[in-house]
Amino acid sequence: MNATLTDAWLTFKYLLDARAATRGGAGAIAARQRRRLQELIAHARAHSPYFAEAYRHLPDGVSDLTALPVTTKRALMARFDDWSTDRAVTWRAVSEFIEDPANIGADFLGRYAVWTTSGTTGEPAVLVHDRRSLAVTIGVGAVRVLPDRQTLWKLMRRGTRTAGVYVTGGHFLACSMTTRRLRERPWTRRSLRVVSALDPLDRIVAQLDAFRPTILGGYPSVLKQLAGEQSAGRLHLDPVLVTAGGEALSDEARAFISEAFGAPVTSPYACSEAGMIAAECAERWQHVNADWIVLEPVGADHRPTPPGEQSHSTLLTYLGNRLQPILRYELGDRVIERPDPCPCGNPAPAFRVEGRTNDVLRFRAVDGSVREVLPLAIGSCFDEARVGRFQLVQTAPEALSVRLEPQAGPEAWAEASRGLRAFLDGQGLANVEVLRAAEPPTAERSSGKFRQIFALPGASWRA
Ligand SMILES: [Zn+2]
Repeated sequence: MNATLTDAWLTFKYLLDARAATRGGAGAIAARQRRRLQELIAHARAHSPYFAEAYRHLPDGVSDLTALPVTTKRALMARFDDWSTDRAVTWRAVSEFIEDPANIGADFLGRYAVWTTSGTTGEPAVLVHDRRSLAVTIGVGAVRVLPDRQTLWKLMRRGTRTAGVYVTGGHFLACSMTTRRLRERPWTRRSLRVVSALDPLDRIVAQLDAFRPTILGGYPSVLKQLAGEQSAGRLHLDPVLVTAGGEALSDEARAFISEAFGAPVTSPYACSEAGMIAAECAERWQHVNADWIVLEPVGADHRPTPPGEQSHSTLLTYLGNRLQPILRYELGDRVIERPDPCPCGNPAPAFRVEGRTNDVLRFRAVDGSVREVLPLAIGSCFDEARVGRFQLVQTAPEALSVRLEPQAGPEAWAEASRGLRAFLDGQGLANVEVLRAAEPPTAERSSGKFRQIFALPGASWRA
């Protein structure tokens, strides 16, 4: 069998398995989770030097998740080569691979998928997934994110034409997966389109109007802007379904977008570490794919947060990827677990996620008009891996301040300022000044929450 056929077969296998698990109910899902967890722990201990060391004090055959120490993005990235269970996967090899934009959606070492976090996650990461993980992401997604019957019927009648407005030019989850699909199945080009969120708004509008998608995807901040264009009569879409991801979707934003497009808005919970974590139900709770994912809401001390209370962070365990094991990995998202059964009938654990929130920045253009800049676009205009942890703060209508870690050297600052300068110039904002802040990235004092990209009070320009 050739590679594409093997992938298709594997995807189909996990699609059927996810369907069987859903039909089997809580017991069938729990049994899969238990078995896969045991296998992953054993595999990580045997093949990942990092986990062999981290788990060396634990008894053989340990299968209790809460007995395992917590890992962080920073710790794993610092020991990238040791984390992997394949010695050919090294930081040097993967850095070379992601450097070349021609490799977006292509296989690394002929067998792995690579996703990098886009510029709004706080800390950079490069995630390498094996074939099984790819098949799980696609197969399970196909079963669990099915829209309601009425929407499905409309899609069948009008055909599936999907347009996603995402940050392009990087190995980001949405961009990479779409590019991979187009690469493997060129004939899908007529029904699948990626529009760059980095393009000026009028160009995004023109491309979408020409393509007329029945499924419209994008970040909430992008979709809100497009909903504004649609309401003003400058955009003329008639989508059946809108999917929002990558940022937190507020109830107001959801209502605004849904009303403007006359379509329901769904928001799957996904990340580069684990693909799809959960799918939203009609009650707007995120039901975890518990046959592949374990989410543990925890406090600052990593002790469990009881259902019904908001957690300080979440520990993620993903059972689909054997290459870079994700076991009790500090995800950072604050969540609330539903304490009672969800009225939708889905027995899987349900969560509300307080996702990342960023501001749309409003700068004064040279002619005095307002120029809106999307957080995910500006956060992705430089190589996060070279800059390290950062924060972008609009301090005045024509000033942007960059907070870097104290140890970030002149090269990190040069990379950030060069990327931001080119981006702002391209947006007609050559007048906006870019400065390095004296302070490091800081969480908000009032909420303790870290916001990656935001405007200080009064700094946003209102013409
Ligand atoms: Zn539900």
